[in-house]
Amino acid sequence: MKFKWFIWMIFLLLIFASCEQGTPSSLEVNMYNASGDMVGKATLTDGKNEVTIKLKVEGFSPGFHGIHIHEYAKCDAPDFKTAGNHFNPEGKKHGLMHPEGTHIGDLPNVEADSSGIIDTEITVSDATLKEGKKSLLTGEGTALIITEDQDDGMTQPSGESGKRLVCGKITKQKDDASNEEPTDPTEIQSETEEE
Ligand SMILES: [Zn+2]
Repeated sequence: MKFKWFIWMIFLLLIFASCEQGTPSSLEVNMYNASGDMVGKATLTDGKNEVTIKLKVEGFSPGFHGIHIHEYAKCDAPDFKTAGNHFNPEGKKHGLMHPEGTHIGDLPNVEADSSGIIDTEITVSDATLKEGKKSLLTGEGTALIITEDQDDGMTQPSGESGKRLVCGKITKQKDDASNEEPTDPTEIQSETEEE
């Protein structure tokens, strides 16, 4: 009788352990504008060969905007260029309508309502939050960026989607920008007179 209990305990422990694989099934991403203000959140959930993004951000001009996953988990304001190009681990062309596309980071345009709020859910096809080259957490991670203009789905390299307005880091690392320190461009120069 005691032995039976022991077997059950082992069984339960195994179930418990298999749920805990170190990769998150869900991930929260804080979104920042060029002035360093947090303007919303994206919640990523891992699915079967896809990642769902629940997005709520504010401060946009009403209408459609491009949204893409970029190759590095870097959001250096104000232009967010350090995030690199669109996430494209398979070396395809840009654009959801391009015959030789698409980048995994190419997503359908999102719409801001009359008060400038984007509140929507989008799917990143063929992506994962688990290990592997199609993982949004590959390397240090990737970045989610919303642009000023909508993506035309065809023009290289980024669909004429214009300026990068809002950026969020998709990474397992804790968000160190959440202590809301505004970046001061003058402080880089200030130490040059030493020597
Ligand atoms: Zn692209």
